[in-house]
Amino acid sequence: MQENCVFCKIISGEIPAHFVHQGERIVAFLDINPLNKGHVLLVPRDHAENVFDIEKGLLSELIIKAQEISWRLREKLGAEAVNLFNASGSAAEQSVFHFHLHLVPRWPADGLAINDWWREKVKKFSSEELEELAAKLKF
Ligand SMILES: [Zn+2]
Repeated sequence: MQENCVFCKIISGEIPAHFVHQGERIVAFLDINPLNKGHVLLVPRDHAENVFDIEKGLLSELIIKAQEISWRLREKLGAEAVNLFNASGSAAEQSVFHFHLHLVPRWPADGLAINDWWREKVKKFSSEELEELAAKLKF
């Protein structure tokens, strides 16, 4: 429990939320600013800031839970697809510094068209630059 963390307060019950799952290590609740009906936030009970410091086993559990919630969004809401989003760090525009995964259910022509803004932001690199980048990142 981290003081002044809105998600820790939701998990402790200090701030109300509409929970869809309350597991031993993970909770899921509806985003109060949803991009679509059924936009869920998947959050570990233990405070970890983001992908850089979350415990590996817990991160694995979160991904498996994301799959279960995705199935549920499809089954219960008729979602045809889902987007999973995470922001880790200020430069990535993380707003709440308690690890969370957004699950946004998607339908055809639902007005989100994420590919539109994605394509506008694409940067170009030469094949030499890409080769150098890959070599630097390879492990
Ligand atoms: Zn927290």
